Amino acid sequence: MTSSNSFDPYEIRKDFPILSRTNRGKPLVYLDNAATSQKPKSVINAISHYYESSNSNVHRGVYELAEDAENLYRNSRQKIAHWLGVSAEEIIFTRGATEGINLIAHSFAKHNINKGDLIILSEMEHHANIVPWQMIAKSKGANIQVVPVLNDGSLDREKLSEFLATPNTSILSLCYISNVLGTINPIKDIIEEAHQYGVKVVIDGAQAVPHMQIDLHNLDCDFFVFSGHKLFAPMGIGVVYAKNELMDEMLPYQGGGDMIDQVSFDGTTYAKGAQRFEAGTPNVCGAIGLGEAIDYLNGIEFSQVDAHEKKLLKETREGLKDIVGLVEHGITAEKAGVFSFTIKGIHPHDLSTLLDAEGIATRTGHHCCQPLMKKLGVEATARASYSMYNTLEDVNIFTDAVKRAVQILG
Ligand code: PLP
Repeated sequence: MTSSNSFDPYEIRKDFPILSRTNRGKPLVYLDNAATSQKPKSVINAISHYYESSNSNVHRGVYELAEDAENLYRNSRQKIAHWLGVSAEEIIFTRGATEGINLIAHSFAKHNINKGDLIILSEMEHHANIVPWQMIAKSKGANIQVVPVLNDGSLDREKLSEFLATPNTSILSLCYISNVLGTINPIKDIIEEAHQYGVKVVIDGAQAVPHMQIDLHNLDCDFFVFSGHKLFAPMGIGVVYAKNELMDEMLPYQGGGDMIDQVSFDGTTYAKGAQRFEAGTPNVCGAIGLGEAIDYLNGIEFSQVDAHEKKLLKETREGLKDIVGLVEHGITAEKAGVFSFTIKGIHPHDLSTLLDAEGIATRTGHHCCQPLMKKLGVEATARASYSMYNTLEDVNIFTDAVKRAVQILG
């Protein structure tokens, strides 16, 4: 692993075995990190080590093996909490960001939203941060207001302020970073503004966690969600952070084992804290993998990752600047390493298919952001999304391949 004062993507790459495989017979150039990240060897080892030596169900096992699993599981929760700057009691494990937002919508919003209340979303949200709110709004007779996205990919702050100041606004749910535009929203400022009006703030951190150090204590949002798999951890594990005092106001929306205090046919009482929202056997191994990913990231300086990704973006723009009809969607100054684009007259799927033949993994489609596609006036975009292990060489392979593809398809 790289040390914090010598950031070197080539050194980081050595920790990710999959990056040395081929794709269609060519060296893999993995540029689909916004969809999922690759996993370092330490995380892969932690998973196999867990199954080789510590696998047992957690909660209530009295034998040593069960205690081992329980300790590993508990340590992971603590590591994650520490990394986010909050307490372990405020961390609920979920399957991912999607389940996290559903949990907040059903366990908190459902009991705190009244008929006619407003839920504020934005045009740049992933479907995971739209559909659960529509479900709740429908069942409670609440309304959704959508903050427009401006031409550069930033939020319309004037509209947002107007919505926040509307007396019956109850919740704002917003992505930290857009998975299409790469826009980094000024959420600290927005959270402060929302709180002046008593509006609760949910932050979808799915795209933020791999790009920046998150300090939830400082951000002061009410809820925060992310998925482990975008943070170099396994799929099927995610986190909801809920402020302690709000957790007490939440009711479980899934019942079953492990989330109870006492069960009888006369009635059931629930466990306290996060456990109340973790019904059934948890993804112990996923949580351990996520803890290990965080250990890995502790050796990495995020300001250097940011500077590196900015270089990759700059190189991408430089490499593609002569392509006639190319539009980069999302050009805010504060932007993560996500490059979504369309080229006039070329279907993004055709482009990505040609890139795939050259070993390059990009993603095309609506990226689970159909309302944003509508706003951009496109059905789909092509997207290259970078991570700390991508190199300028990757970018050059990608931009050269795009130029060749344009010659074939144009
Ligand atoms: N939010 C954003 C901004 C995303 O990019 C994604 C996934 O791409 C999600 C939420 C949903 O994440 P998951 O499918 O891991 O639950």
